[in-house]
Amino acid sequence: MTTEQAAMSLAGEDRVALITGASRGIGLATARLLVRRGYRIVITARQESDLARAVADLRALHPGVSSYAGDCADPGVVNDLIRSIQRDFGRLDVVVNNAGGSHHASDFAALSPEDWDQTLRQNLKSAVMVTQVALPLLKATGSASIVNVSSKAGRHRTDMAACDYVAAKAGLIGFTRQLAQELGPCGIRVNCVAPGITVTARVEQRWDQRPERIRAQVIAGIPLGRFARPEEIAAAIVFLASDEASYITGATLDVNGGAFMG
Ligand code: NAD
Repeated sequence: MTTEQAAMSLAGEDRVALITGASRGIGLATARLLVRRGYRIVITARQESDLARAVADLRALHPGVSSYAGDCADPGVVNDLIRSIQRDFGRLDVVVNNAGGSHHASDFAALSPEDWDQTLRQNLKSAVMVTQVALPLLKATGSASIVNVSSKAGRHRTDMAACDYVAAKAGLIGFTRQLAQELGPCGIRVNCVAPGITVTARVEQRWDQRPERIRAQVIAGIPLGRFARPEEIAAAIVFLASDEASYITGATLDVNGGAFMG
């Protein structure tokens, strides 16, 4: 271990963080920042090949990086994931429920029961399941922290997604508040970040397909006049996960350039 790595290790005090959906985008930016703070991390995503690229990127910063491939809305996958964290690390201090996304912007009338199932499963049920299975490990630390990644769409109307995504992300905010109330006495803080549009590869592709008129309108609605970078969302997530936010629980932090001021 180099001196720089040893110093980072001290800063994170050897804590272990799990970040779901971290092969790219906001999840990967969060993983990078946690690794730089000295956390040992476990990242998940659905595709093994995507994860391998992310792990190589992160191990260049710190060797304490593990990965687990699978759908984190699948109970079997989640049970195996948490069991492997227990076996390999023996502790879990931070969970970032980041996995999610929206895949269409259909009208309500066009959404099928399968669309609803897929979107609620990917954005809400995955966070619920990971949190529930991880709970005994989190309780054992005495001061753990959970950060859920919602969306500005869960706080306000949107032009970028459909009712299923908005309902799932609003559900995550309600879940955050109620869980914070329940887990406060166990020393576990539960918070949420609600990002505005953030320039990841998935979003960039969909944005480029939007008519120029709509793009101009969306940008005009952001006081800071631009979209977020993944690193800017990661900074808010890591703040809420850290001891710097030791008296914050049940909160949803809007990180949207002023596009919605709650
Ligand atoms: P992305 O598509 O770039 O990356 C998503 C990651 O999640 C990938 O690693 C993917 O494999 C993983 N993933 C998705 N579903 C999963 C599942 N069921 N099990 C395991 N892994 C899964 O996404 P992003 O744009 O970085 O978004 C990250 C989070 O932020 C999502 O919850 C998204 O809804 C939210 N968000 C994004 C934006 C934005 O503009 N990018 C805005 C608001 C909220």
